[in-house]
Amino acid sequence: MMKETYFLSRTDAEGNERRMPIGIIKGATPGERITVFGGQHGTEYAGIEAAMRLFRETDPADVSGTIVVSMATHEESLMNWIQFAPTHPEIADMMLEAATGSQYIINCHGGEFTEEMHPYVICRLIGDEAAEAVAMRMARALGVGIVSLSKYRGEPPPDPSGARPAWWLWPKKGLCDKLGIPEITPEIGQVGDRDDLLMYGGIINVLKELGFLKGPAIQHPEPNVIGDRWWLTANQEGIYFPVVTVGQEVTKGTFLGEIRDYFGTVLQTVEAPDDATVMNMNIGMPVKKDGFLIWLGQF
Ligand SMILES: [Zn+2]
Repeated sequence: MMKETYFLSRTDAEGNERRMPIGIIKGATPGERITVFGGQHGTEYAGIEAAMRLFRETDPADVSGTIVVSMATHEESLMNWIQFAPTHPEIADMMLEAATGSQYIINCHGGEFTEEMHPYVICRLIGDEAAEAVAMRMARALGVGIVSLSKYRGEPPPDPSGARPAWWLWPKKGLCDKLGIPEITPEIGQVGDRDDLLMYGGIINVLKELGFLKGPAIQHPEPNVIGDRWWLTANQEGIYFPVVTVGQEVTKGTFLGEIRDYFGTVLQTVEAPDDATVMNMNIGMPVKKDGFLIWLGQF
């Protein structure tokens, strides 16, 4: 029964050291192992805040099994305020090391500094019914009420309308595919908001549901599952002026915003392709060609 801290470390081809601060809580009674990642994207603060609070405040006397916490999975992006930072091979390798030996993964994400995010959770379906049922139980226990099932992998076929098919989100293989264990990805927090009530509270409830922490878990209703979705991008570089907000329900044809040049000429009008809810959107002023603007989901 103890807490332990250390840094995982890798040196990349250019000789730069990448570190991952890890805290391990070894519980009073033996049990399973879970890995919680915060900060794979360094400006998604809710997950980083929740991960650090989880390690700081959890008493090993209240824990069964082992909780492994990565406090800043992409340290460079956290310390340099880098948005949408790619997961370098060295980071992926450290994530694999931190998750190996665990039976469950929670990988905290959310909106970056210039992103609004409606809270939801990605539940990764890996083709193993037992693991998927556990992942769905974790997704429900998180308590955000909206789940996106990620079943398919690979890049989508080109679509003449420019829209991404429903299964585009999270096309890459994840740790759960590699390790064959349940993984959820909470998408909570936005524009620097730490939102630890929702993220931290949700993680605590998942840990209770799985038996890592004492006490009964809150039994939330089954979450809504997102069906069709639309991922809209910029036709060209410009300055973006959105007029909607996340959580807003829009109908087909609703004006969502426009891209203008510096002098006011409208370069692109963005409209809702169908009746849907705004889930996630860019609120940054500059947009590049093919850059993300907004995604909408039906549930
Ligand atoms: Zn993220």
